[in-house]
Amino acid sequence: MRPALPILALLPLLACANPSYQGPAFTPMQESRAVSDIAAGPAPVRRSMTDEQAKQAIARVAKRLAPAGTTACRDLGRACNWRFIYDPSQELNAAATGEGDIIIQRGVAEYARNDDEMAFVIAHEMAHHAANHVQSTTQRAQIGGALAGILASVAGAYAGVQTDGLAQGAAGIGSQLAVITYSKAQEREADAIGATIMRRAGYDLAEARTMLLALARLSGQAQTSMLSTHPAGPDRIASFDAAIADMEAAGWRLGRGG
Ligand SMILES: [Zn+2]
Repeated sequence: MRPALPILALLPLLACANPSYQGPAFTPMQESRAVSDIAAGPAPVRRSMTDEQAKQAIARVAKRLAPAGTTACRDLGRACNWRFIYDPSQELNAAATGEGDIIIQRGVAEYARNDDEMAFVIAHEMAHHAANHVQSTTQRAQIGGALAGILASVAGAYAGVQTDGLAQGAAGIGSQLAVITYSKAQEREADAIGATIMRRAGYDLAEARTMLLALARLSGQAQTSMLSTHPAGPDRIASFDAAIADMEAAGWRLGRGG
């Protein structure tokens, strides 16, 4: 009958909505290992840095990640135009918006123990762009009217971009964007693609896991809004472990089957 046709016509569109990467389910062993690894260490502590020190560290990592991020976008059939913006507020959070804008808060540099840990946080946001999570209607609906103001603020920051490639943003723009939430599947996808980006940029993948452990240990403390947008419990770490084993076996190719 006629009414069935529109539904059939939708099927190719639904196929296009497949995720860029869907990792395997984690095993009970991976989960119990995540639980004990979280319990095995202390929560990270903030190192006090000047604005200049934090900016230099973030600019250094962003610059090194950018080419690998561009390649990841291309592998997934997208073009990403990176713009990195520094938010001087002391929270540990980063956010993706616009066509390739990444806002990084000062706390990312202060809490990360090294460039590799910082690289994972930034690469995770780049991965949200690469996997086309940012332009989704869900995100637009969530930000609503606030989007125009944030994008204007980001564009203003970028007009005065410094030679190191990191623009100075207004304090708190990263927190304004913290209203954005992605699905758990999208977060796992961003962790796996982000790990690929940081690996291709020559960063140590083991430090991505230590950053996830640090975030999990900070859970329940109030220092970071990242935990409201990026819950980091044992299941996130176990999923990460399962994805890394899977990506390793597949030779770190992106865009297979998606
Ligand atoms: Zn995320």
